[in-house]
Amino acid sequence: MRPFTFNKAESIHKALSGRKVTAQYIAGGTNLLDLMKKHISQPESLVDVTSVLSNKIETDKKGISIGAMVRNSALTLDKNILDDFPLLAKAILAGASPQIRNMASTGGNILQRTRCPYFYDVTTPCNKRNPGSGCSAIKGENRMSAIVGYSEQCVAVHPSDMSVALAALDANVLIIDKNQKEQIIPFKDFHRLPGDRPELDNNLPPGALIQSIEIPRNAFAKNCAYLKVRDRDSYAFALVSVAAALELSGGKIRAARLASGGVAHKPWRWYEAEEFLKGKEANIKNFEEAAEIALKGVKPLSGNGFKGPMLKGAIVTGLKQCVEMQ
Ligand SMILES: Cc1cc2nc3c(=O)[nH]c(=O)nc-3n(C[C@H](O)[C@H](O)[C@H](O)COP(=O)(O)OP(=O)(O)OC[C@H]3O[C@@H](n4cnc5c(N)ncnc54)[C@H](O)[C@@H]3O)c2cc1C
Ligand code: SF4
Repeated sequence: MRPFTFNKAESIHKALSGRKVTAQYIAGGTNLLDLMKKHISQPESLVDVTSVLSNKIETDKKGISIGAMVRNSALTLDKNILDDFPLLAKAILAGASPQIRNMASTGGNILQRTRCPYFYDVTTPCNKRNPGSGCSAIKGENRMSAIVGYSEQCVAVHPSDMSVALAALDANVLIIDKNQKEQIIPFKDFHRLPGDRPELDNNLPPGALIQSIEIPRNAFAKNCAYLKVRDRDSYAFALVSVAAALELSGGKIRAARLASGGVAHKPWRWYEAEEFLKGKEANIKNFEEAAEIALKGVKPLSGNGFKGPMLKGAIVTGLKQCVEMQ
């Protein structure tokens, strides 16, 4: 590992203003340290932000605010989350392990980097790690890679389970930039598609800090499910995941939310399928039709043709599980 200095930030102001260009923030360190050990990230200094960012979960009439330093495990135990935003807890519990969730922070989770094997192997070309070097996955091992929204430059997927739930719940990210200006980025615009800049995972301005995630109140708590299909039942990233949520009135769907992980460079919302479900009966026939609508845009790579049928099954099962909650 390259030598680095370590500073504990004394305030948000000092973290933002005193940060060198070659520095990186560190929260739980569960992703960043792996990247440093493998020579993918090589910061000259680390700025520890654990004691200056909020670790509080606060609710009001408008919704819930989750401080960037709230640990993933704390989110899965919080009564307000479990009562009003259970989809978030379900998604987090589908990821990593209890030990990692105890360390992982809310801000760090949504900023974790792809698990594409070539990104971690510094002996291979990878446009995300080394822009302009090529993409080894597009014609190589791409079983775990994207099936929508990818480019010739990069076919990686975003690995965070929590982010899939936050996308489905229309969350917002409150940030503070290096000029100390606060901004709100809608979650749907937070992560990027690779296009011709695959080295950029998201739209967080350089040097900015995530302060909190804000989730507006919704009527999806009673009928929601997170389904993760993976190679092992624990400690494995999603081949395909589905966050499904329905607002039901009698047997009819007033509103639907459907998002997926393991399919794109960002958490992917299936807007057309959601629109189709609105006003329909909550039954298998309509769930299957919604899944077919989602599948229309899917373009598998050489090694992941199985993801289409897998996604269809996951969407139908996720929607069924939403109804079975009642
Ligand atoms: C073995 C293993 C299995 C895993 N399995 C899963 C899984 O199945 N599903 C899943 O979703 N995740 C999984 N993870 C990933 C884990 O969830 C992430 O590593 C964790 O959420 C990252 O949070 P952190 O606080 O440790 O981030 P760190 O490692 O501290 O930071 C990650 C990045 O975010 C930046 N950063 C952190 N906080 C802020 C902030 N507030 N503002 C600006 N920048 C910030 C850091 O500079 C760094 O670039 C797994 C990890 C491991 C090691
Ligand atoms: S898919 Fe992206 S991360 Fe993977 S090798 Fe290609 S450029 Fe690198």
